[in-house]
Amino acid sequence: MLIALGLPSMIVVAGLILDRLDRSSAAPEVGKVISSINAVLAGQDEAGRTTGCFVVQFDDAPRLLDLHGRVAQSQILRCCIDRLKGAMRFGDVMTRLEDGSLAVVLAPVHRLDLETMVQIAGRIQAVVHQPISLREATVHVTCCIGFCHGRRAPQPTGQSLLDAAQIAADEAKRFGPGAIRAFSADMARARASRDALRSGVECALADGQIRAHFQPQLSTDTGAVSGMEALARWHHPERGCLAPSEFLPAIEGSGLSTRLSITMVTQALSALADWDRAGFAVPTVSVNFSAAELGDPQLPDRLKWELDRFDLTADRLTIEVLETVVATAENDLIASNIAAIAAMGCGVDLDDFGTGNASITTIRRFAVRRLKIDRSFVTGVDEDREQQKLVAAILSLAERLGLETLGEGVETPAEHAMLAQLGCAHVQGYSIARPMPADEVVPWLARQSERQIFTPKIGLKAR
Ligand code: C2E
Ligand code: CA
Ligand code: CA
Repeated sequence: MLIALGLPSMIVVAGLILDRLDRSSAAPEVGKVISSINAVLAGQDEAGRTTGCFVVQFDDAPRLLDLHGRVAQSQILRCCIDRLKGAMRFGDVMTRLEDGSLAVVLAPVHRLDLETMVQIAGRIQAVVHQPISLREATVHVTCCIGFCHGRRAPQPTGQSLLDAAQIAADEAKRFGPGAIRAFSADMARARASRDALRSGVECALADGQIRAHFQPQLSTDTGAVSGMEALARWHHPERGCLAPSEFLPAIEGSGLSTRLSITMVTQALSALADWDRAGFAVPTVSVNFSAAELGDPQLPDRLKWELDRFDLTADRLTIEVLETVVATAENDLIASNIAAIAAMGCGVDLDDFGTGNASITTIRRFAVRRLKIDRSFVTGVDEDREQQKLVAAILSLAERLGLETLGEGVETPAEHAMLAQLGCAHVQGYSIARPMPADEVVPWLARQSERQIFTPKIGLKAR
């Protein structure tokens, strides 16, 4: 079992007396450590000696705290510090950072290269990763480590060295658990641009720059529009129209997920009400929800409020949930939220189906209505026998479970026709239409209804 502590990180600095550092409880000691590093760095050129700083961030900290509580958390931290004292050289310094993580600074050394620093980071990890016995359990803690060589800090100061190691640790955390990263100038630039993006998304949400684009879904049986999926786009004043991959991580990282989902639901329902008024029958509009959004206890009430506000029945809204979220959700709140939303009458689509190993029990538990077959199974389905077998297997599973199906990422009429022939009820993809801004939907719907009148049905259902 892996347990994470509320131990965000730790620093190690060379040349200081470990005992002294170790007693430090928090921030004041960090100040002392920084002064000591300053002294080492100031003399490094004449003496030819330098130092290095490591920041140790414990993986999965909130879960550890949840499982074992604060007392156990301090015990685990204390145990790691004691063990590290035994593993580091005399004179190396260790302190707890304000966020609870640890920093280690090496005692001044003559020859310190990257390889040595990687080895030291590995040694710190090996110590931290040893099982820790608490009264009622044995816990396994893992950590990510970021480090910076004394000569690589952007400024020759203790604060700069510590900040650089912290940036590297944050970077390691992005690739964790158990990752090690060395500080580089590129890393600092990427971090600055992420920070800028993060503050940008907040303004973008407030200013209405994040807008829903819509991609149609068609019934393979009748050719009629069976729904529209809302996909977020950032209309950036300088960078143009940005895809979700460029800003969703910043939204999630800034805790703005709920704001995004509500913005998307409002825009989607408002557009649906407009299409109704224009006389086009679009049965439902789908909105994507991340795990963070689905864990919001107020989500069912918020959706109900939005539906009431536009005077729409619940069946007009579908929520799309990634198969990976459903398959890994330990969080009962996500399950009960989805159940409550399904009970209200909204549709629940399982997105990217086939990529996330959701069990049949989970599919049942989450009240799923439709499987969205991932694009990776759809590409080349018209020609590739293996793809056809996989899609046929998913379709027969869906049929037995009484679920509807939609093929995603249909890029050619031939793929569309094959899916129809195999018995997939709905399709979505570039061959039908790319996601479009709200104001292009009504003209597209008008063209589509004309096409539908003049086009014979594509394919025949095999079953
Ligand atoms: P998704 O939900 O699987 O959405 C389908 C993605 O595939 C969209 O990318 C769409 O533009 C693209 N696509 C549609 N048809 C085709 C096709 O025929 N070929 C190819 N190659 N691609 C196709 P997009 O808009 O970049 O969105 C990427 C992902 O971002 C979405 O994947 C969804 O998981 C997430 N996303 C989008 N909007 C939101 C949102 O409002 N909230 C949340 N939480 N996630 C969102
Ligand atoms: Ca989706
Ligand atoms: Ca998908």
